[in-house]
Amino acid sequence: MNSNLDYFFNPKSVAVIGVSRKPNKVGYVVFRNIIQYGFQGKVFPVNPKADEILGYKCFPDIIHIKEDIDLAVIVIPAKFVPSTIDECGKKGVKGVIVISAGFKETGYEGSQLEKEIVKIANRYNIRILGPNCLGIINTVSGLNASFAAGMPNKGSLALASQSGALLTSILDWALSEEIGFSEFVSLGNKADLNEIDFLRAWKDDPDSKVILLYLEGVRDGQEFINISREVGKVKPLIVIKSGGTSAGARAASSHTGTLAGADVAYGAAFHQAGIIRAQSIEEWFDFAVALASQPLPQGPRIGIITNAGGPGTMATDAIEKAGLRLATLNKNTVDLLIENLPPAANFYNPVDVLGDAQSDTYRISIEALLEDSNVDGVVAILAPQAMTDIVNISKAVGEASRKYNKPILCSFMGGREMKAGIDSLKKYSVPNYSSPERAISAFKVMVKYKQWKEMPYQTIKKIRGDKRKVAEIISRARKESRVNLGEIEAKEIISAYGFTIPQSKLAKAKEEAVEFASSFNFPVVLKIASPDIVHKSDIGGVKVGITNEEELVKEFEDIIYRTKRLMPDALIFGINIQEMATGKEVIIGMKRDPQFGPLLMFGLGGIYVEILKDVSFRIAPIGEQDAKEMIEEIRAYPILSGVRGEKGVDIDSLINVLIALSSLSVDFPEIIELDVNPLMVKEKGMGAVAIDARLTIN
Ligand code: ADP
Ligand code: MG
Repeated sequence: MNSNLDYFFNPKSVAVIGVSRKPNKVGYVVFRNIIQYGFQGKVFPVNPKADEILGYKCFPDIIHIKEDIDLAVIVIPAKFVPSTIDECGKKGVKGVIVISAGFKETGYEGSQLEKEIVKIANRYNIRILGPNCLGIINTVSGLNASFAAGMPNKGSLALASQSGALLTSILDWALSEEIGFSEFVSLGNKADLNEIDFLRAWKDDPDSKVILLYLEGVRDGQEFINISREVGKVKPLIVIKSGGTSAGARAASSHTGTLAGADVAYGAAFHQAGIIRAQSIEEWFDFAVALASQPLPQGPRIGIITNAGGPGTMATDAIEKAGLRLATLNKNTVDLLIENLPPAANFYNPVDVLGDAQSDTYRISIEALLEDSNVDGVVAILAPQAMTDIVNISKAVGEASRKYNKPILCSFMGGREMKAGIDSLKKYSVPNYSSPERAISAFKVMVKYKQWKEMPYQTIKKIRGDKRKVAEIISRARKESRVNLGEIEAKEIISAYGFTIPQSKLAKAKEEAVEFASSFNFPVVLKIASPDIVHKSDIGGVKVGITNEEELVKEFEDIIYRTKRLMPDALIFGINIQEMATGKEVIIGMKRDPQFGPLLMFGLGGIYVEILKDVSFRIAPIGEQDAKEMIEEIRAYPILSGVRGEKGVDIDSLINVLIALSSLSVDFPEIIELDVNPLMVKEKGMGAVAIDARLTIN
């Protein structure tokens, strides 16, 4: 471990402040854990009322310890923590773990206390882990500075969790499953050190092959994305995110706001950062053990070997559902299998070696599959039948895994009978899954991760907009105490960032409308212009396809009449006369997420958007590839790319407007929501026109 967190993972000396003599106290357990698991550094207990605990001389306070102290572990009541950290500072301590609870998690006073300890720590350049945490464990140095009920096995998983209780369960379970860890961190309240610090530290830690995070929220969304992206290029990062965000708390005034539910920003951020998301603890470790123990597959083509038909079929179904491929075996592979397997076997993928198959049959078959250039990895299934030699078969599989640089995942299905085989697989570090589906899910994650890892870094694209113009419009609205900007102003803003908007003119009275009409080509559109009317069509405030002057006058009067009747208090600027556009309607929008910043949305437009929810999201700033993916991701994409002889739309112009929206959102943090609905996109090469827009500032 070579980072500024060295003082936490590899301290030369540790003081435990608040060591207790009573074995049922946290202050005792922490101290005992530190001295119990082979930690080579010096350890000093602090307790003013005791002379000696567990054979160690006690000190009345940290100042009285003669030697330098790297790390202090604090286990005393919250109210004494600030003064103790001050002492630590005077003593020159580098890192502090505050195990004590009674801070932010308890309410206002606690959160003040928490701020105070951070302030004191900053003064002395001390880093704090916690408060309200379980502690830290490093299996490599043997340091267990926690009150966990045990020490995890050595292994290559690094894990940090925002829930301490979850950690204790995981630890206990991992001990029985023989899953090993390099480092184990309880983040607690994250007053100072948080997930970002540990990601940074673990990125280059040779002892940690896979990083697991359990998060309830992140401290700095954009920074989290950046560091995760860097980490992902080096090693897999698997995250469980639980709980909603405060994003949904504010009632949304836009379609984007309504559709961008609490979890959407996390989904987008994880995707962009190449983070593997686990939906449960089971998945977390299913993915982790595969990634930690097996080489990454070169592609999605799986070879299956099984001694039972049913599970083989289940695996095949799972492969199809996962979007992976059942490998088509080379002819010489099939020939070799025909030569060596009984005539009733299945020589094609899935290879069914039959119920009475022995270990040499497994050996020959699995090696044949692994030799095959059409096979990227193998899922080996075994059902315990009367004549099945489970242990020797597991050895055949294990040895094959040592010989070939392709991943093997097993599903030795069973319990009591299978245990010996599964244990033997562990010796070869071949992961086993209770069902073929779980093995296939893990395989899929490996395939996806490999693809992501090899994708070149995407360059963020930014366009330069007319910032001054946008700022002017926003400050005008502010002066008038308006936070919602309607069609006219919103369109002025987006046009300052290169959006094409239809020719349009605001007519304050009927006579003006007639006068303007001559400068338009019919057909035209009339729209009520009012800052108080958000959904213009809802009150009959939009009339499309007006073909002559007479109609125009009539509709003008009708719209004014309807508006005055339905919304008597609305301030009416007049009526907008607009050139009529053609094309396919899409929606693009932005909602500012409190954690991650501008969340961009793309989808097919029109009135059904909120029902169909066929939309995609990314966090700005984005690159062209992100924009392209956003467009291709929606289910209705074929409608845009062209179906049944229809010409496709101008995808390039959609990419450009998404980049423009991204740039605008980054340049103007005061815009908190924005909808362009519809954006009318024309045929390839013909561009896109923003028909309607609105936005909200804070
Ligand atoms: P609102 O969303 O406030 O009801 P819009 O300006 O989006 O008002 O207009 C409603 C619908 O009318 C649009 O979704 C679009 O189908 C159609 N429409 C509006 N303006 C035009 C235009 N200039 N050209 C073509 N169609 C238009
Ligand atoms: Mg609209």
